[in-house]
Parts: sequence; structure tokens; C-alpha cells
Amino acid sequence: EHALAFPPSFLDELKSRVGLAATIGRRVRLVRAGTVMKGLCPFHQEKTPSFTVDERRGTFHCFGCGAHGNAIDFVMRAENLGFREAVERLAGEAGMPIPVESPALRAREDRLAGLHAVLEAAADCFRDSLADRRGGEEALAYLDRRGLGAQAIERFGIGFAPPGRTRLKEALAGRFPEEKLVEAGLLVRPEGGGATYDRFRGRVIFPIHDPRGRLVGFGDRIIGEGEPKYLNSPETELFQKGRLLYAYHRAAPTARRSGEVVAVEGYMDVIALHLAGIETAVAPLGTAMTEQQLALLWRLAPEPILCFDGDAAGARAAARAAERALPLLKA
Ligand code: ZN
Repeated sequence: EHALAFPPSFLDELKSRVGLAATIGRRVRLVRAGTVMKGLCPFHQEKTPSFTVDERRGTFHCFGCGAHGNAIDFVMRAENLGFREAVERLAGEAGMPIPVESPALRAREDRLAGLHAVLEAAADCFRDSLADRRGGEEALAYLDRRGLGAQAIERFGIGFAPPGRTRLKEALAGRFPEEKLVEAGLLVRPEGGGATYDRFRGRVIFPIHDPRGRLVGFGDRIIGEGEPKYLNSPETELFQKGRLLYAYHRAAPTARRSGEVVAVEGYMDVIALHLAGIETAVAPLGTAMTEQQLALLWRLAPEPILCFDGDAAGARAAARAAERALPLLKA
């Protein structure tokens, strides 16, 4: 009954926006202890903390009384609320409107699931193109010059969009309706009409994931010189640049453990740092740091580090991010 009352994507988004430690931290003083946070259990009397909060898993657990659950369970129990009331309370705090169950909403859920499948299929095509010695040779040589070898390509799922206007379109045509490919941001439909064509052409492709590790879009880079240097998927229902950080889902486990996170300027910087053993690096997607992105950083570490380029543009970007962070500071 619970699962039917609210769509899964809404509950996911809600839990991710409110944050488990932030929700529990209002009632329980939490102290970091390795990969988790600890405090005195609010559900039974104790003098030494046996109540743990695991932000990565999204669950709390008490080794004293066995209390266990996610952010919604915590609010239900701590505030003595029903499931729906707890969800409404959290949604109110997060400023999220409550979805009303309807056939339209159900259809949206199905559509989003379909978009993930389309993107995964495209990512496979891009990877195959890079591995293809005839087509991907130039891209491979470029990556090699930038110090990204087989290990980086594998680990970050890097691909190649071959030149030509309909390579991806043809590869996926039999498997998905054209409209889905447009919706996923993979095909461009010309404004004045005419046939759709591939958005990504002759470029190195970087898959971009949401904080939960689901593929939501692509970033790309031109090989060698030319403009624009970087392109992204267009804004879609899944891909909202200002709410995403590149490699966040990869950096999160290590960042939570170490209490450190480093935001750098670009995909290549992130990959270089991860390969060099600094696995807490993330990057915004080619835009100034937004409030949502700062909130994501703070979810991983109390004092995020911004490490931008040492040029004038980098200094300006860092100053802008600091100014944006000031009003968000809390006690
Ligand atoms: Zn307990």
C-alpha cells in the first residue's frame, strides 16, 4: 500500500534531498565514526552510543534495541506519525510538492524507466565505437596523450561518438522509438522540421550519473582543437546540470569515509585525480557551482574543498562559489 501511494522516483528524490544524517541530526547528536555516524539512540535509554547512521546505505541501525530503517522510518517513529504523514512532513521541509497518484503520474514513471534504458543502450554503442580499432583510433590516441589508458576508459565508461549524422540513430533505431531518443537528448530534431540526427558526433563521451549511480546523460569533448570544446546532454527530465556533479556516486563512499571531498573544474581533472588515488574528486558540469551542487558536497563532507584552475577564470569561479556558499552556512 505504501509503495503504491507515492511513486518510487518521488520517494528516492525525497530521501536524497533531505539526507539521512541531516534528518536524524535534528534529534540526535551525531559524531562521525569511520564510515558511519554514531549517537545515543532516541528509541531506548543508553549511556554509550549504539545508534549508527549509514548515509551511504541510507539506513540507521541501533545495536542496542534493534531499531532500523530509512529517513522516513525515522520520522515515523521519532514523531509518531504514519507513513503518509511522515512523507508529507519531510516533503514540506524539502519544499517538494506531493505528487497525486494518477494514470499520468504512472505513465511518467514508466517513461523515466524507459529513458534510463535508452541511455544505457547508447552508452554501450559509444563504448563499442571507442573499442573499434578503425573508428575509435583517433579518440583512443587522444585519450592516450591525455594520460587516460585502458584502465581509465574501463573505469569511467568512456566512449566515442563517431562522426556522421546518423550513426547512433541507426544503431538504436530498431530497438527504441525515435521519439524516445529525442527525449533522452540523443537525437536533435531540427526546429524547422526535417530528419532527426545524432547530437554527439566525432567526440569523446563521458557518461554522467545521478547521485544514486544511474546513468542520466553524457558529457563530451572535442578531439583536439575546435569549438565548442565541451558539450552536454540537453536538460531533460533526468539530466539537470545544476543538480548533478560528475563522478559524485564514485566519490561518495570514499568521501564519507574520509570526510573529504574535492570539487575540480572538469571531467578530465576528476579522472586524473581518481587515477592518482584521490578518489574523492567531483566536478560541476561546465557551469558555475549551484546551491544544489554545494548541498551535495556538504552531504559528503563538512568542509568541501574547491580546487579550480589557477588562472583568472578559475579564481573567478572559486570566488563565485564561495559567495554562493555564504548564505547557505548553518550553525
Ligand atoms: Zn536503540
